[in-house]
Amino acid sequence: MSDDKDDKIVRDQEGGTELVARLAENLADVRRRIAAAAAASGRQPGDVRLIAVTKYVGADVIRALIAAGCRELGESRPQDLWSKAAALADSPVQWHLIGHLQRNKLRRTLPLVSLFHCVDSLRLLAALEAEAGSMGRPARVLLEVNVSGEAAKHGFAADELPAALAAAGNLKYVKVLGLMGMAGLEGGLAAAERDFARLRELRDRFAADCPEGISLGELSMGMSGDFEIAIRHGATLVRVGSALFEGLASFP
Ligand SMILES: *Cc1c(COP(=O)(O)O)cnc(C)c1O
Repeated sequence: MSDDKDDKIVRDQEGGTELVARLAENLADVRRRIAAAAAASGRQPGDVRLIAVTKYVGADVIRALIAAGCRELGESRPQDLWSKAAALADSPVQWHLIGHLQRNKLRRTLPLVSLFHCVDSLRLLAALEAEAGSMGRPARVLLEVNVSGEAAKHGFAADELPAALAAAGNLKYVKVLGLMGMAGLEGGLAAAERDFARLRELRDRFAADCPEGISLGELSMGMSGDFEIAIRHGATLVRVGSALFEGLASFP
């Protein structure tokens, strides 16, 4: 009996070691690809921050990812972010909300999140301002733009951006730091080229005469399948999930 038990402990430890090693390998590979894409467009690797998207995995795998060196994590559902932030409260990480936020989840989410990537309506901007004001803490946000024009996608239409930026310029607690977008599902890498070029162009156009207090320095675009294209078009934040978890037993 006690032999079996010892065996099991050893196997678990080996599993844990393998997990960390595999994650470290995947992470190194993603970082190498980020650096290569940055270099190919005359940028420094440090110009691009990796947001590790942890929505596929539980707290144990996330701990291993943190041990491998990830410090910025992204979740797309507020409820998942709450529970993982609680499970990892002792870890030195910053959380990014990379999915849609309903106003009724704001109060609980605001204190946990270092950057909201998906602010997609004037109503949400106003609600964030009210909540951030009542807590006396700033809310750092990106405006999501529906660059692909797909009906199922959230985000401001390009022609709504001037009004959104003007509204954000009047807010005291909400700090707009840039734009976020996703490539259309149809059209593969050509669509990514088109949509990321469009987001970059919008950013450049509106950065020129933004209201005071708003900067559009950050561009959040690019996922596992297209982050190199996004970096060539100026991404400063890439949101990568699957590529980090490839080959793990717990990842399909
Ligand atoms: C899931 C998700 C990602 C990561 O996607 P992968 O293809 O797994 O890298 C990035 N951004 C958003 C908004 C997501 O929902």
